[in-house]
Amino acid sequence: MSKMNQKMEAAEQVLLHTYNRSSVVFDHGKGVYLYDTDGKEYLDFAAGIAVCSLGYGNETYTNALKNQVDKLLHVSNLYYNEPITDAAEKLLKVSGMDRVFFTNSGTEAIEGALKAARRYSYNKYGSERYEIIAMNHSFHGRSMGALSVTGTEKYRTPFEPLIGGVKFADFNDLDSVKAAVTDKTCAIIMETVQGEGGIYPATPEFIQGVKALCEEKDILLILDEIQCGMGRTGEMFAFQGYDVQPDIMTSAKALGCGVPVGAFLMTERVAEKSLEPGDHGTTYGGNPLVGAAVSAVMDIYADMDILSHVNEVSAYLEEKLDKLVKNYDFVTERRGKGLIQGLVVTVKPADICKKALENGLVIISAGSDVLRIVPPLVIEKDHVDEMICKLEHTFSEIL
Ligand SMILES: *Cc1c(COP(=O)(O)O)cnc(C)c1O
Repeated sequence: MSKMNQKMEAAEQVLLHTYNRSSVVFDHGKGVYLYDTDGKEYLDFAAGIAVCSLGYGNETYTNALKNQVDKLLHVSNLYYNEPITDAAEKLLKVSGMDRVFFTNSGTEAIEGALKAARRYSYNKYGSERYEIIAMNHSFHGRSMGALSVTGTEKYRTPFEPLIGGVKFADFNDLDSVKAAVTDKTCAIIMETVQGEGGIYPATPEFIQGVKALCEEKDILLILDEIQCGMGRTGEMFAFQGYDVQPDIMTSAKALGCGVPVGAFLMTERVAEKSLEPGDHGTTYGGNPLVGAAVSAVMDIYADMDILSHVNEVSAYLEEKLDKLVKNYDFVTERRGKGLIQGLVVTVKPADICKKALENGLVIISAGSDVLRIVPPLVIEKDHVDEMICKLEHTFSEIL
């Protein structure tokens, strides 16, 4: 057995089997490449599921973390710390929101967002106005609350009963949302671009229509920007490309570019009537280490004008992906925005991902029939060419 196989076997003996992992043990990364424990190089077009926007080994980022590690890791939310205040100021500025609560993950950000929405409605209208409308094919996380609003039945069923008062509507179908609204509705939650469910961007008519409906009835619009936010669509947050502002939003994944951090944010109008001291808390959330990370990420994004870069390189990527749709019968459609792209395929995406990995390309799937392309945002056109080359080679092998 090879050394790497021994390491995988050791992991299988101790870790709970909740993932069917790919056959690779990653050891280190540099730029947009990952290296396994045998030293083999992989071009990374998955970024740890849309997390590592800056790729690997960005010096400004790692130095910010190293300095903070030497200074102070954690103090608890009973006290103030400077890095998280800096991070909060920068995050609010780029999101147009007014208040933020930092969490340790995306699913916890969703929990907080749901609690904030219920609390707002409870304060203003009493205990009978609690319904939440979520979307079919959505993904919001694995905790009981986040799972309750996740629109894939097979994720939910084994864990029922989940939280009550959730209704599902169809994404990009305004009438189905209108049909689900009652005088008990307190919030509508959706991803601006559905990620896990298969890379479906909201249509402008849909998201603007939902926003108008929310305003008319004082329903809170919760936008989940955990995967599509943080520059990935070419806007800092995807909703900024639609000219709508949510009442509550969530972020995570690329927010810390590798440290476990999430956040839920809200407008002052919501904050005034929502969570109060004692209503919500976290031991780790927003500690100095993640504060330093988020703060550095914000600075680096601004310094390198990452949004312009994403817009430029993604136009090139789209062109190349459209060619694949044209040239291969089993690639039927491209969907996406910026550097969150999906290719619909009629062969099993998992088979393509497996072969691609052997060929030194990390790529993942979404839904049941989509190849998901969520590379580090710092990729260059050369990397796009290399990815296409490796993908076409992979295609030639599986057909
Ligand atoms: C990944 C994801 C989550 C859950 O985030 P975790 O950090 O895995 O808990 C929630 N919503 C969306 C849109 C996601 O992509």
